[in-house]
Amino acid sequence: MKNLVIITAPSGSGKTTLCKEIIKKEDKVQFSVSHTSRKMRKNEKNGIDYHFVTNDEFLLGIDQGDFIEWSFHFDYYYGTSKFQIEQSIKRKTPLLLEVDVKGALEIQKLYPDQTISIFVEPPSLNDLKIRLEKRGSDSKEIIEKRLQRIEFELSHKSNFDFIVINDKLEVATNQILEIIKNQTKGVPYVT
Ligand code: ADP
Repeated sequence: MKNLVIITAPSGSGKTTLCKEIIKKEDKVQFSVSHTSRKMRKNEKNGIDYHFVTNDEFLLGIDQGDFIEWSFHFDYYYGTSKFQIEQSIKRKTPLLLEVDVKGALEIQKLYPDQTISIFVEPPSLNDLKIRLEKRGSDSKEIIEKRLQRIEFELSHKSNFDFIVINDKLEVATNQILEIIKNQTKGVPYVT
């Protein structure tokens, strides 16, 4: 039964924004809150957007095998906790996972029978650059580094079940909601 919905994308394509819209419109889908050691951005809340931890706490989590996948980007750790995934598989409830491309490939490989994967693409590289600049959370150097990863990330898009272009936010949100509804038929939603 497919109840793990992975949203993946090159950084800046809008996966966080889309996940928030999806959760707002479909409260029967739970959001998997990742862990990170990066600093909290304005408007973010601990335990809701991420579990914000220190580098040491994150390293302890790695040692304890708490993460199904983790990565280190630009000085900070990011990881998906095993607990929430296993709980949702046990309960057969839909879980929305926002992960980078490498992590998405790993989760897909670990849970091939439970996973629906959606790759979110920006309308163009130029739009992506503008979005990263507008977001205002990264220095020029970090934006450059994020853009350097894009080729690797785009080269994997055919590994995912669906590709959604995030041009108009509402259109992309509705496309993803449609995919979730169609693909999770039979999954008992959380009430
Ligand atoms: P990601 O999580 O993939 O790194 P974000 O959700 O943080 O991306 O989005 C990056 C920036 O682009 C944010 O400032 C966000 O408000 C903006 N954004 C997201 N989706 C759209 C869209 N469809 N049109 C215009 N701007 C968008």
